[in-house]
Amino acid sequence: MEIPVCAFDLKTGIFCERCEEKIRRGEVSELDIRVMRSLLELEKTFHQLQSMCYVKSVDTKDAIAVVLRNGNLGAVSQQSLALLRRKLSDSLGKNVRLVEDSSDIGRFLEPLVAPARIVAINKIWLPDNSMEIRIILDEDRGLKLSVESIQEIVRVTKNVNLKVDFARRSRKRVLPVKEKVVKEVEAPEDRDKRGSKNHVVSL
Ligand SMILES: [Zn+2]
Repeated sequence: MEIPVCAFDLKTGIFCERCEEKIRRGEVSELDIRVMRSLLELEKTFHQLQSMCYVKSVDTKDAIAVVLRNGNLGAVSQQSLALLRRKLSDSLGKNVRLVEDSSDIGRFLEPLVAPARIVAINKIWLPDNSMEIRIILDEDRGLKLSVESIQEIVRVTKNVNLKVDFARRSRKRVLPVKEKVVKEVEAPEDRDKRGSKNHVVSL
C-alpha cells in the first residue's frame, strides 16, 4: 500500500526527518499512524490493499472515516469491501467508513450523505479567502453519518467549511419534539398567571 510515511518508520516507530516533519505540520496525525499500521497488517491477508493509496483518516463521533485514493474502492467487490471494513473496525476498536477521495467535492460527498441526494451545491469565497461549500440535500431522513461528522470529514480532508441544508425535513421526527419543547419551557409562574384575570386581559 502506498502511504505518506516510510513503511519502515511505521514499523519501528522511529520516524526519519522527512516523516517527522509531516507529523509536526499535522499532515500526518496520530490517528493516521494507527490506521496505516492496521492497514499494513491487513495487507498480508487482504492483497487488494497493495495497490491502494492511503490519503487520510478522520475520527468523527459516528465512525472513523478512512479516505483512500480516487478509484481504489470501485475496483473491489462490495463483499471484499465489507470484509475489509469489518476487519479494520475490529482492529481500531471503532466503526470504520471507507471513503474514496475525489477532487470533485460533489462526488466526494455523494457516498457520505447517502441515502440523501445532493440537490444543489455552491462554492462561496469568504472575505478571508477561505472557501465554504453549501449543499442542499433532498431530505434528512436516514443519513448514515450525522451532519457534524460529514462536516468534520470535509474540514479535515479538504480544508473546507461545509454547510448543509435540507430541501425537506422528515416530519415524523420534527413535529413531536417541538410540541414537547413548548410544554417544557413553560415556567411555573406562567402557569400561576394563567388563572388570574390580569393575565387574560393582557393577552
Ligand atoms: Zn520516513
